[in-house]
Amino acid sequence: MENLETPAVGSMASAPAEVKAPAGGAQHARAVPTQRAQWFARASRVMPWGVSSNFRYWGEKDTMVIARGKGAYVWDVDGKRYIDYRLGFGPVILGHAYDAVNAAVVEAMQDGNVFAMTNVYEVRAAEAICRMTGVDQVRFTNSGAESTMHALRIARAHTGRERFIKFEGCYHGAHDHVMWNTSTTPVSAMGSRRSPIPVPTSSGIPSALRDRVIPLPFNDFEMLERTVRDHWHEVAAILVEPIMGNSASMMPAPGWLEFIRRLCDAHGIVMIMDEVKTGFRIAPGGAQQFFNVRADLVAYAKAMGNGFPIGAIGGRREFMMTIEPGAVGHGGTYCGNVVSVAACEATLRVMETEPVFEVINQRGARLMSGIRQLLERYNLPHVIMGVPSMFGVCIGNSENAPTPYDYRSLSRFADEDLNWRFARALHQRGILPDIDYQEPWFLCYAHSEADMDETLARCEDALREILRA
Ligand code: PMP
Repeated sequence: MENLETPAVGSMASAPAEVKAPAGGAQHARAVPTQRAQWFARASRVMPWGVSSNFRYWGEKDTMVIARGKGAYVWDVDGKRYIDYRLGFGPVILGHAYDAVNAAVVEAMQDGNVFAMTNVYEVRAAEAICRMTGVDQVRFTNSGAESTMHALRIARAHTGRERFIKFEGCYHGAHDHVMWNTSTTPVSAMGSRRSPIPVPTSSGIPSALRDRVIPLPFNDFEMLERTVRDHWHEVAAILVEPIMGNSASMMPAPGWLEFIRRLCDAHGIVMIMDEVKTGFRIAPGGAQQFFNVRADLVAYAKAMGNGFPIGAIGGRREFMMTIEPGAVGHGGTYCGNVVSVAACEATLRVMETEPVFEVINQRGARLMSGIRQLLERYNLPHVIMGVPSMFGVCIGNSENAPTPYDYRSLSRFADEDLNWRFARALHQRGILPDIDYQEPWFLCYAHSEADMDETLARCEDALREILRA
């Protein structure tokens, strides 16, 4: 594979000493293992499957090893440049290694990072979050999973009830309570949509938790109403991704979030919006602002730190103040650490002072419609869902299939093999969406018009290739 650009620093500097770069010529390149292969072999010896998260494992041959990133680009260890639409699964909202964020972090960390005490960066970052999103209060966490985990506990403590409703195809992190009927669960295992079976997404999840979760299809007003009518007295929370950021950015049906809001109000159920992907991405105030629906508790992470590890729970004072020293727990050694909150403060400052959302929305809208036109021109059944800052592209297996409206119909619609081949053909051409069609394409402030031109041209090449095959 041809190198599009050689990185100035990073891959070569950090390559293993025993590996020599291929000396040119296709035959030569085949004889010498790529840097990727070398590094992946090393990784696989010391890390299960060579990765730090299962979702990054794309198979023995395809799992990538990245050297560095800058702006909208990443470079792999073989020096190949990609226009990045994964953006670390969404956090990188401004661009990789964004100068203003890095500078704020470098300056802040000179005076130490962890004090496990309130610090000034944390106060200012919390104020910015409240200002931008309209939540009354915030507690910091270190990840999206921690945010949903604590939000659920707060909801349970607040209501004195234990069960919660979640929607099939929504992903809320890798903790036991929420790893049920997620976007990796086979539809066939989930039973009838009229009485979905709770299916754990992994071995090792205690069966005792099965009865705590009530899985329901997304966008099904009737099922939700019936379930709440029958079980409200034991339901602490309805946990929802406002846009299904782990099921190809499927949108809520008109009125869906408002409907959840009304049911929660009527039955004393806590509405938890999981804004880990949508927060600080689809609008400054996230999905609450975008859809004009206020949740009781909101889980944040990802874009709020432009890639630095941080999360937060936000919400109305009444719910947030359920947290109580000695009575209702929330904590963590690294919550509010200086590096993360300084990154957050700097990221939000850029969002509040520059046209971040306008630029992202304009470029993303162009890309969405460009890809749609290409799929139409090449007569491929498809759906493009979501919003310009995070949209899903799914090639379908039949022109007659109904437009997907929940996780079950999406899984039936998708042509797994063709979507996979499209992604791989794009990767070969230096365009990097995730290999899984369920993961949205993410845009960042650093993506340029020229990147859109290049991406659309490569999309066309990739489509031609997969159709030839
Ligand atoms: N909620 C949603 C909607 C997510 O997309 C994710 C991660 N993809 C999480 C929670 C978990 O976040 P983290 O990986 O930071 O734990």
